[in-house]
This record gives sequence, C-alpha cells and structure tokens, in this order.
Amino acid sequence: MARYDGPVCRLCRREGTKLFLKGERCNSEKCSLDRRNYAPGQHGQGTQRKVMEYGRQLREKQKARRTYGVLERQFRRYYEMAVRIPGVTGENLLRLLEQRLDNVVYRLGFAPSRAAARQLVRHRHIEVNGRPVSIPSFLVRPGMTVSVRQGSKEMPSIHESLRQLGKSREMSWLVVDKVALSGQMVQLPSREDIQIPLEERLIVELYSK
Ligand code: SF4
Repeated sequence: MARYDGPVCRLCRREGTKLFLKGERCNSEKCSLDRRNYAPGQHGQGTQRKVMEYGRQLREKQKARRTYGVLERQFRRYYEMAVRIPGVTGENLLRLLEQRLDNVVYRLGFAPSRAAARQLVRHRHIEVNGRPVSIPSFLVRPGMTVSVRQGSKEMPSIHESLRQLGKSREMSWLVVDKVALSGQMVQLPSREDIQIPLEERLIVELYSK
C-alpha cells in the first residue's frame, strides 16, 4: 500500500506539534520542531494566515492520521466504524486507532515509534495469543496477549527500546511483562488514557458534513 516516505519531521512542522514519529530523537534536542518551529517550505516563516473552521478540522484530521500512520481511505473506514459503535464518535475513533496492533506494540515499548512497530509486525516478530500476526491494522481486543515471538526475543532493537523507555509508557489499559516480552490489553483505553493533544470533535465535524 502506498505510504508517505518523505522526511517525517516535516509532518510535525506542518502540524505545528510533535507527532513523535522518530522515537528517541523526538525527546532529544535534535528534534526538528524544537529547532525550527515553523511550517516547512518557502512561506513557512511568513505571516500567520487566518485559519478557517474547515482548515482547523482538516489539520486535526491530518494530525491524527499522521500520528498513527494511517492512509486517508483507511482512516475514513475507522470513522465509519466509530459511528456504528455506541458512545462518543470521536472517542470511539481514537480508541480504534489505539487498538491497532502496531500502536499496541509501540505502547508496550517494544519499538521506539509506531513506524518501527509496524516493521516488527510486518516482519512477523509479533504474536497475538500465541499466533504470528503480520497485519499492522489488526485490532487488539481486551483479553488478548501481544508478545514478541520466541525466535525474536533477543533482538537488540526491542531491548534498546524498552531500556530507553524506562517507565515512561506505562498505562492502565495495557499490562506489560518486560522479561517475557509480552503484554495484555486488560481493557479498552479511556479518552484520558490516550494522551494525544487532539480535538477529535473537529474530525467528526469534518466527516459528518
Ligand atoms: Fe516530530 Fe520527532 Fe521529528 Fe521532532 S524529532 S519533529 S517530534 S518526528
């Protein structure tokens, strides 16, 4: 599937916020956004343009899409699923994105970024309930166990990611066993658990026009 493979820091600068797409670098002084906090391109440093409501909705949607590394068509499908789930559509949408296997692998700390987590999944290093799953969009449900495959448990990148992380990514909805390299989703995340500064309401407004 076609995927954006340009410089990812440009995406953060375009959205004007950290999307944490590069793992460790994002929390270091090397972060491009910290050094150049203006939009990329020739007019990036120009005078601030007035952003209309539609523009705000569009930017919020792009921010969410880029954070989770999801293409437009797939993102809309998540929205349509979110509408059918009882509750607040915006929160349902974020919850579905959080349930993606690549996101869960990232949240468990087995990879420094969602892109790296996606690679782990694609290369069959990850199992769900003891069976290899190579589909990054696989939706993890409460009660499921996500683990690193036996033959991949010595991968230095996984241990380095967990080491870098320390305790910073611990969450109430995911329980991780750093020795066994496995984790279980104990419940769906609440909105408070998803600490991403997004106004999901704007995304819903955009798609419900
Ligand atoms: Fe974004 Fe990370 Fe690049 Fe900073 S280092 S601009 S947070 S991708």
